[in-house]
Amino acid sequence: MLLTPNLQVNKITDITIKILKENNIQAMILDVDNTLIDLNREPLEGLKDWIDEMKSNGIKFCIASNSLKKDKIEKVAKMLDIPYVHFSVKPTKIGLKKAKKILGVENNENIAEVGDQLFTDVLGTNRMKMFSILTEPLCEEKVKINNIKRKLEKRVLKSQRRKF
Ligand SMILES: [Mg+2]
Repeated sequence: MLLTPNLQVNKITDITIKILKENNIQAMILDVDNTLIDLNREPLEGLKDWIDEMKSNGIKFCIASNSLKKDKIEKVAKMLDIPYVHFSVKPTKIGLKKAKKILGVENNENIAEVGDQLFTDVLGTNRMKMFSILTEPLCEEKVKINNIKRKLEKRVLKSQRRKF
């Protein structure tokens, strides 16, 4: 299924080297907004240490963000010392292909993408036949909005049922 992630985690730092090895992952493509940083551009706690630990285990990294804000993405990339692609237009294959080229990994199934959105991250990654990892969005506000949306959806569905 194109909208089903291969793996779901609470946050990116929950992913262990054991999980990556078990799934033959050699490289990771990272989303930025709400995956690595919150709406105030604050990085997730322990992120740098996690990246360094994965790097020391041979995992390669590249950022692929849909953001048009090059300065913001560049700042995160510099902080983590990894290359980046901004304006990557997920769920199209454009940015993910660019990231793959940068990573220099031959087979798509050896690459995992980590992101917080089903319709951009997971869909794009599954279309590329890469390994999709879905995280919870970092920002609580966004979660709250989503909860409201979900409640509205339920209400709409209920009212439709009544009509029929
Ligand atoms: Mg995101």
